[in-house]
Amino acid sequence: ASGDGAKELYKVGVDTTYPPFEFQEDGKYKGIDIDLINAIAEDQGFAVEIEAMDFGGIIPAMQAGELDIGMGGMSITDERKKTVDFSDPYFEAGLSLVVAKGNSEIASLEDLKGKVVAIKNGTTGAKFAEEHKKEYGFKTIQVSDSTSMFQEVSNGSADALIEDYPVITYAIAKSNLDLQVVGDRLNGDNYGISVLKGKHDELLKKINNGLASLKESGKYDEILDNYLGTE
Ligand code: GLN
Repeated sequence: ASGDGAKELYKVGVDTTYPPFEFQEDGKYKGIDIDLINAIAEDQGFAVEIEAMDFGGIIPAMQAGELDIGMGGMSITDERKKTVDFSDPYFEAGLSLVVAKGNSEIASLEDLKGKVVAIKNGTTGAKFAEEHKKEYGFKTIQVSDSTSMFQEVSNGSADALIEDYPVITYAIAKSNLDLQVVGDRLNGDNYGISVLKGKHDELLKKINNGLASLKESGKYDEILDNYLGTE
């Protein structure tokens, strides 16, 4: 707390690298999550400091009191709601099954019998895989970031991976990955900004007010367009 008019400073945990939501360019953090939280902070008169970490470490770090806010393309789930409170949703996502480019053997979950699926620790994709591996007869290998997960499939250590649709389509288009999305989306969800449950009611109110004001002013659309626009 500060009595001298200085702005309250909140630490925001984001994923190490998760374009277009967060990534580093010229030593600076960029992306939809970064721009949104900065704009919300400016609108609501607080300050933020970005800390990048493995996605699976964000909620534990919040619980340990090391972070105030969790982002990272974090999906709103009932399980997470036991430990964090979420803002209003700010982005629609959902999971996709991804294989190596040119793989004509795997077109859906049904084709995963005896296969290896790379998953990323602590994600909704990992949870989905663990819940369905028995039914479809696949094995999983866990890594801690998306780049490693993509590599597992590129180098043939895994046959498939599960990633958020907006992230994998962006990565394939921008980084020219030798991967392709197959089948229908596996589920649908929404990203939210999280704070430790019951501990940050004031902050959560500010985050929601800020988000609403960015949507109203057009700033929210501007940020999304900046990363996802087609021009
Ligand atoms: N949206 C997914 C989740 O919440 C993945 C997030 C991520 O990998 N950064 O688990």
